[in-house]
Amino acid sequence: MTAGARFPLADGHADSLMWNRDLTARLRKGQLDFPRLAEAGVRIQCFTVVTRGYPVVDGMRAFGALRGWPAAARRGPWARALFQLDRMHALCDRVEGAVRIAGTSAELEDNLAYGRISAVLGVEGAQALEGRPERVSELRARGVRFMSLTHLSNNELGGSSSPLMGDRPLTPLGREVVDAMAAARLSVDVAHASHRTFRDLAAQRAARLFCSHTGVTGATRSWRNLEDAELRVLAERGGVVGILFATIYRAGLRLRWDRAAPAGPARCDGRVEGRGRAGAASAGGRGGEGRVGQLAAVLPGDAGRLIRTSRRPSASDRTQSSGSVCQRSWHCTGE
Ligand SMILES: [Zn+2]
Repeated sequence: MTAGARFPLADGHADSLMWNRDLTARLRKGQLDFPRLAEAGVRIQCFTVVTRGYPVVDGMRAFGALRGWPAAARRGPWARALFQLDRMHALCDRVEGAVRIAGTSAELEDNLAYGRISAVLGVEGAQALEGRPERVSELRARGVRFMSLTHLSNNELGGSSSPLMGDRPLTPLGREVVDAMAAARLSVDVAHASHRTFRDLAAQRAARLFCSHTGVTGATRSWRNLEDAELRVLAERGGVVGILFATIYRAGLRLRWDRAAPAGPARCDGRVEGRGRAGAASAGGRGGEGRVGQLAAVLPGDAGRLIRTSRRPSASDRTQSSGSVCQRSWHCTGE
């Protein structure tokens, strides 16, 4: 029995859609496709859409052209978001139920009961709205259940955690978007938020906060990582924290995939799980400190009870196949 069969594995982040690959087929490139998710026992996979590239250069239009996006889809952030979301719906249709987009706890439970993979949709950076908060409800209608305010760059909504971004606050328009998200029951992903924007988001009591992918400064200082105090805020608000597997965010500048870093998920799990309802959605590799928390904080309702385990997988749970495949599927390209 694989680890996934006994513990439904959940991954808080994959930006596979921007690569415009056929995820229904086993791919030689990339870290994730539907067959490999199934093989690894992953039962819940968050997919985020990306609409803007790097600071200053952006490069998203050129990237889209390189990856074969249609011209209309490359035009601007909103068109880019819709293209990737439509693509995901089409991919799920093609596998006839093996992977389904889940928008409610009932759908998650149903998918789990029937052995289907749940895809949970999110947006990386609310610049996708192009300044129109009313578009939040359209995103919800298309299956999106979470969104971060910023991505790699500062935008009209708030500050990014990327280097040289100046630790900007949430803007009035950003607050408006957070209100729209609360009304539409979308969770706010704090991944990539500057520290100031994080604090401003935390002050919005209606915001459903969580973090889809991050490292922690307790393990490694990085522009990308959350401070202990921020983790506590998420824990107190019931938000799950997805821990990045890439060792560059966990234990220095080594980007390795084939073994657990010295300061690995166990440390992060302990740091977060000791506090209230929050769970750390992460999985260990061959080093073995895998544990799945309550991803359900991503979703509206009471899905928190859906995935919960209090013990670590035993040695027999951690088969080679689930370990090696999972480790590669649990994020990390593109940031
Ligand atoms: Zn990211």
